[in-house]
Amino acid sequence: MEKSVARVLYGQGTSLNLTSRKIKAVPECVFRIKKLSVLQLNNNSISALPAELRSLRRLAELHLGNNALKELPAVLGHLESLKKLYLFSNQITVVAPEVMGGLHNLVVLNLNHNQIQRLPPEIRSLHGLQHLSLLDNQLEEVPAELGQLTSLTELNLTSNNLSGLPQQLYQCEELTKLYLARNKLTSLPEGIWALRKLQVLDVAGNKLFMFPVRFHLLPLRELHCEGNRFVRCEPMSAVQDAEVLSLKELVARFVLLEDRIRSSLVHRMLPHYPALTALAAAGSCCELCLNPFLTTWLECVHFISPKKDMKMTSVRVVPVRALLCSYKCLNTQGHSYYGEDPSTVSVSGEGSCKQERDQNSGGD
Ligand SMILES: [Zn+2]
Repeated sequence: MEKSVARVLYGQGTSLNLTSRKIKAVPECVFRIKKLSVLQLNNNSISALPAELRSLRRLAELHLGNNALKELPAVLGHLESLKKLYLFSNQITVVAPEVMGGLHNLVVLNLNHNQIQRLPPEIRSLHGLQHLSLLDNQLEEVPAELGQLTSLTELNLTSNNLSGLPQQLYQCEELTKLYLARNKLTSLPEGIWALRKLQVLDVAGNKLFMFPVRFHLLPLRELHCEGNRFVRCEPMSAVQDAEVLSLKELVARFVLLEDRIRSSLVHRMLPHYPALTALAAAGSCCELCLNPFLTTWLECVHFISPKKDMKMTSVRVVPVRALLCSYKCLNTQGHSYYGEDPSTVSVSGEGSCKQERDQNSGGD
């Protein structure tokens, strides 16, 4: 080992490889190589990192895969030049917020095969992070702050215990690859269609029963979705309850419609009422007539062929959620939207799409 260290210390190189040397602690002589930029310590028995590591001010790449770390060592938060950090196959359970705060320049963070249960909101400090991999951990949720990682191009959350994802994920506009296989996801964030660069999506082995609204607008090239609980298309007749909109909904629809007209009084006055503006922002529009609604809609489904509609090689048809404003729209001819049967969807998840659901998520 001394030979390797001496070679780097007195030679031209800036990379030191101490892989598979049965090391329990980083040898002190290493800290004398101030020019060191790559340090490989994979396949050892390292359980802690000493504070002296921070003297390596040029260290850009640190490989600590297959060691015995139980947490992210605090000293890592002082390695401000660090761009790539590999910590796969340790026994890490905790990611300390302080460490995240110091890793401003990190581009790659690999924490695969650990026992991490949660990520701190401070993960937002990793402004430059492009690849984040947490394959095979025990995450039950990820913080909304993940949406602030706007440089992220690849996110791997395969094999965790996630039952949902934060809506803010749609803010990661650079995302091209998203791996979510083998979790417990029952739905994907509604805003996901805004990921205009997403090319690969793997959601195999979850509990999805359909894809979110406008899913087919994603520029996907690869979609893996086997092993879910997608609704099937088995149309049958259904009884429709009379549709009675609340006064709030009626007014909201009027205001939202008027607001589209630039010369209208509503459009000009709305900005003066921030509470109303915020309320209006929560509105959506009917996929058929394109008219706006606020909190009452018919939750429907249409079946998309990835091959035809998304120009992918995948052959199976996938269900995509669609929101319609009224039975009037649903009952018009010449469209391919179906109401869904909430009983079969929510209980067995294997259900057919049959009857209409009138969803009121907005209270009063
Ligand atoms: Zn409509």
